[in-house]
Amino acid sequence: MSYTQQLLKLRDEYTKRRDAIHVETWHEEQAVEKDFAEQVVQSENDDVLAALDHDAKSIVMQIDNALLRIKSDTFGRCLKCGKKIPDNRLQLVPYAEYCIECAEIAENK
Ligand SMILES: [Zn+2]
Repeated sequence: MSYTQQLLKLRDEYTKRRDAIHVETWHEEQAVEKDFAEQVVQSENDDVLAALDHDAKSIVMQIDNALLRIKSDTFGRCLKCGKKIPDNRLQLVPYAEYCIECAEIAENK
């Protein structure tokens, strides 16, 4: 499977996941009065959902950027240092933007 196909497949999965989260959030908003304990649980759920929603959205965005990089023929190059991202990393994370070294530096900040 080419990286384009992999990215499109992943994009589809994350888009579905994102939409599923939206549906669930919407249903919770329809809920009527709850006691305090339930409200606490609900707001914790909302936080988790909001975090998942954010992850799904940001991954869809990264996938879109990777697809643009394939079109402009810069795919597989680290956005920071310009070195080639190893294939084994791209196979795990086809939308990776940085090589392992730059990703580690970014994470340690
Ligand atoms: Zn790099």
